Parts: sequence; C-alpha cells; structure tokens
Amino acid sequence: MVIDNATLLIGIAFSSASLLFALLIGWLNARSETYLVLGAMGMAFIVTAVMIMGLRAGHYGLAQHLVPYTLILIGFSFVFAGVRKFRSPLASVRPPIVLGTIMVIANAVPFLLGYTGIGLILLNTFSAILLTLCAVEHWRSKGHARVALNANAIIYCVTAFSFLACALVIIYEGELVVTAPPENWAEDFNSIMSLVGLTGIGALTLTLHHARAADRHRTEANTDSLTGTLNRRALFELFGNASPAPRTAVLMFDLDHFKQVNDRFGHAGGDRALQQFAQILRAELRRGDIAARLGGEEFCAVLPAIDQESAKLIAERIRAAYAALGMLLDDEGLSATVSIGLAITGPEEDFSALLSRADAALYLAKNGGRNQVRLAALRLVA
Ligand code: GH3
Ligand code: MG
Ligand code: MG
Repeated sequence: MVIDNATLLIGIAFSSASLLFALLIGWLNARSETYLVLGAMGMAFIVTAVMIMGLRAGHYGLAQHLVPYTLILIGFSFVFAGVRKFRSPLASVRPPIVLGTIMVIANAVPFLLGYTGIGLILLNTFSAILLTLCAVEHWRSKGHARVALNANAIIYCVTAFSFLACALVIIYEGELVVTAPPENWAEDFNSIMSLVGLTGIGALTLTLHHARAADRHRTEANTDSLTGTLNRRALFELFGNASPAPRTAVLMFDLDHFKQVNDRFGHAGGDRALQQFAQILRAELRRGDIAARLGGEEFCAVLPAIDQESAKLIAERIRAAYAALGMLLDDEGLSATVSIGLAITGPEEDFSALLSRADAALYLAKNGGRNQVRLAALRLVA
C-alpha cells in the first residue's frame, strides 16, 4: 500500500466525522427525519472505533481488539436502523437492536476465549451481513431519486463484499489465533472501500434527504390540506394544458346548503363534512380516477376511460353516500346533500371546455332541486 494502514484508518475516521456532522446538521433542519440522527449515531461509533484502531499501534490486547470491534458492530447496527427508518418512517428499531446485540455477544465470545482469528472472521462476516441488509433496504426503498438509491445500495454491497473478503482470507489461511491485525490484499481493499463507502454513502444519503424533502414540498403544494385530495392547482397542472383523452368523464360537485351546515354544526363541523365527502370520493372512485377540491365546498373528479352510464352510476353512488350521512340541517328534515354535474369529453374539446359543460350541468342540478346528478348537453363537432 502507498500509505500505511494506520494513516488510512485516521483518514477514514476524519471522513466519517465530517459525514457525522453533515448528517447531524441535516437532522437539525428536519427533526422528524430520524434516519439522519440514527445514521449520525452509527457514524459516531464507527469514528470512535476507527480512531482506536488507528492509534493502537503495537498494542493488540483483548481491549484493543474487543472495544473497537464492538463499536463497529454497534455503529453498523445503528446505520442499519437508520436505513430502515429511511425506507419506512414507521419501521421498528427493534430488529437492528436485537441483531446488533446478538452479533456483539457472538463476536466477543471467541475474543474472550483467545481465538482472535475466529473473532475477526465473525466481525467481518457480521459487518458484511449488516451492510448487505442496508443495501437491501435501499433497493426496496421507493422514491424518485432511484439512481441515488441504487448507487447507495451498490456501495453498501461492495463495502460488504470487502468485509467478506477479509473473513474469507483469514478462513483460507486457517488462522484461528492472530496476534496482530492481518495485513493482506483483502484488508487493503476493505480499508479503501471503507473510505470510499463512508464518503459516498454520506454524500448520497444527503442527496436522498434533499430529494425526499423536494418530493414532500411538491406533494404539499399539490394537496388540499383539509381533505387530502389534490387541490385546484394540481388538477390544472395535470389536465390544464392537454385535451383529455376520449371517454374521459368530469364530475363537478357542489355541496348543497353548505352555509347551513356551518350554521348548524359550526365551522369545525363543516370542515368535518368536507373531510367526510372527500372520504366518500376516495371510497367510490376507481383506482386511477382523480379527485380534487377546487375550493370551498366544490370538488371535481376526472374519470378516464369510462362511458357515460358507468360515470353516472359512480356519481349516483357518491350522491347517495353523502346523503346517507344524514346531517339534518333544520327541523323540517332538510339534510346535507350534494349536487353533481357530469360531462364526457366531446370531439377536440379541451379541459376547461369540458369543465364548463360539467359546471353547466351542475347548475341544472342546483336549479332542479339539488341532491341530484345531471348530464351535460353533448358537445357537437365545431
Ligand atoms: P348551495 O346549495 O346553493 O350550494 O348553497 P351553499 O350554502 O352551499 O352555497 P354557498 O356557495 O353560498 O356557500 C358556501 C359556503 O361554504 C360558504 C362558506 O362559508 C363555506 N365554506 C367555504 N370553504 C369552507 C371551509 O373550508 N370550511 C367550512 N367549514 N366552510 C367553508
Ligand atoms: Mg359553492
Ligand atoms: Mg354549495
């Protein structure tokens, strides 16, 4: 090697330390992202371990072996817990804790019995297993930053392989007891991969963190915060500039007597009614249909690839489900209902023209006494 192993280890420790701070700063800006703080804690253990390994020159007693190796396994377990949390924020940290504890204990036994070679084989194998599990979690992660996810998974895999290679070389050489850390091609490869891996994984983890934040902001900007449906802006971003495909239906909804809903149940009660209506839309619309709140108590749904009869059936089901909530508005038995206008794409019709026809049909439904579905007049070829 061009540089000696101890210098390389100190280099690894410094690069991990800067990564640790980058992750911590990322976490300070987004406290809910627990994977960042778990990753930083993992790095802290690894930095400490690598520092000890770099500075222990000449002393290879039980403590000089066991302390850094235990810290490494704890560090990788934290990193694994962080990667699991990255894939799914609800993921439990128990499996990594249990796995890490078993590995730490299993790793300590051969060292305590004096079989340092076996201890090193276990250390390298366990590290390879934890890093492979991290790679699998990244592969299974969903998200837009697919390239960064895959690149991270590959780096985890290659680093895992470098640990496995260290274990295999010790097995091949049959050394049950080693008196000094092994020096061979696998150890060199492992040191280099650790440096590349830590820096690469750190940079890519921060890239993924930013990609996820951008995703979340995009979703928030497109979602109606009260009902969870898309908002007007998202609907027009989706359809505003394009002519909808033939056989696309648009349903326009306006909740009836909504002022009275507010008067009767209070503004919070009105909000709940809006949420219940959105829930009905989610339940009754098909997968692939789009629902949006246009504003106030007005909603719109876009149903691709459907005929008029089926669209009307769905609209009727939505109308009936909302009426069935039975929100009584006065003592004469007036209850909260919804009026619906339905239009199906005509030839060469753009989205706003289709919406206008659905709106006109909604107007008919209101004038016809509310709580009903009305079809828009067919659009004739221009
Ligand atoms: P119509 O049957 O003719 O549709 O009568 P309406 O009372 O539903 O119609 P109008 O458009 O006059 O009233 C809509 C009401 O919806 C007025 C407004 O206070 C209420 N509203 C708008 N946005 C919200 C909201 O976010 N939450 C609540 N609770 N009420 C809202
Ligand atoms: Mg209205
Ligand atoms: Mg209304």
